[in-house]
Amino acid sequence: MTDTLILSGRWVLPMVPRVPALAAHAVVIRGGRILAVLPQAEAQARYPGAEHRDFPRHALLPGFVNAHTHAAMSLLRGVGSDLPLMEWLQDHVWPAEGKLLSPDFVHAGTRLAVAEMIRSGTTCFSDMYLFPEETARVVDQSGIRAVLGLTVIDFPTSWAATTQEYFQKGADLVAAWQGHRRIRFTLAPHAPYTVSDDTLREIGRRAEHLEVPIHMHVHETAHEVATALTDHGERPLTRLARLGMLQRPFAAVHMTQLDDREHEALMAHPVSVVHCPESNLKLASGFCPVARLLGNGVNVALGTDGVASNNDLDMLGELRTAALLAKGVAGDAAAVNAVQALEMATRNGARALGLEAEIGSLEPGKCGDVIAIDLGSLEFQPAHDPHAQIVYAATRDAVTDVFVAGRALLRDRELLTLDLDELTNLAQTWQERVQAAH
Ligand SMILES: [Zn+2]
Repeated sequence: MTDTLILSGRWVLPMVPRVPALAAHAVVIRGGRILAVLPQAEAQARYPGAEHRDFPRHALLPGFVNAHTHAAMSLLRGVGSDLPLMEWLQDHVWPAEGKLLSPDFVHAGTRLAVAEMIRSGTTCFSDMYLFPEETARVVDQSGIRAVLGLTVIDFPTSWAATTQEYFQKGADLVAAWQGHRRIRFTLAPHAPYTVSDDTLREIGRRAEHLEVPIHMHVHETAHEVATALTDHGERPLTRLARLGMLQRPFAAVHMTQLDDREHEALMAHPVSVVHCPESNLKLASGFCPVARLLGNGVNVALGTDGVASNNDLDMLGELRTAALLAKGVAGDAAAVNAVQALEMATRNGARALGLEAEIGSLEPGKCGDVIAIDLGSLEFQPAHDPHAQIVYAATRDAVTDVFVAGRALLRDRELLTLDLDELTNLAQTWQERVQAAH
């Protein structure tokens, strides 16, 4: 029974509807999957030969699912801060990317991002960026789980010269990594304003063929919607519906602009909204009406976006911002309670990525993606309500241990699959290159 692992904690928070924090419970993992969630004493009696890791001060949770990232952009952390979206993109981010974007850039940036994500309790991320073959290599080597966007934009980049080349490179990526236990895919058209109707139709066909969700920035700002109305006489979401894009699982990122008809359309289609509150706040993009969406039964997941607009990949920070912002936007202190905030960062994220049967909660049969958050320090005492303490008081340095498919990636805050000193040096090297190019 040496392949059996018992993780026991002061609490287990399974993130299963109507299941409370379970005191003195354990998660049993075998072959990378959860075998049982049960009282600690019972777990030890039932699996006597198992390896046992006890976390007497901690809460054990499913790992966080970051449903929208541009991981490699960690090398541009903070570039062009405090500017509006289009100025930030056109004058700072796109020129820097134009000079620097390469397989090396994506490999280095993604390694830095994955190290940061593991250290803050993220076990799965949904990425949208170029050179995803490099992202796949880092995911494979580091032990984290990821959903890689097959990016499509109707203009040339250093990765692909034509729309057909984007499709071909995406197909090559799927062929190379199909069947990998920790790598999945989405079709990822960048945004309504960078992809034509014909390209979107082809994306819809390919998503159906591969049975994967579509992952796209939609209604990020009022400016985006107003420009679409002026240029095409149609709001972007209306256009996506007309093209049949919302008939299948669709992860719509940002969604700060929604009228009543659009709220109804979201309820009638398998659309998840990926809320990125800190990016929206920093770029003054607007407010996603999260409380209304959740009240309507729409699946709302959570993403950090890239660190150039955040400036971190910290899901604990993000879910706290999401909970606080939703109350302010709704004018209702009961909007997005602590359990809902944690659900957005775990099971709702899994659903947005089409992985609800695999990850997002601690239940038998799901993957052994588990994190331990230390609630034993003075700052958390007395810990009456572990869900609320995590959402409103915990910071990412309280995440001590991270497991993906039962494999330890972080042990007592030490990275086990990536070298912290080497990454710090790598970041310094790239800081000089980015400054020279910027
Ligand atoms: Zn984004």
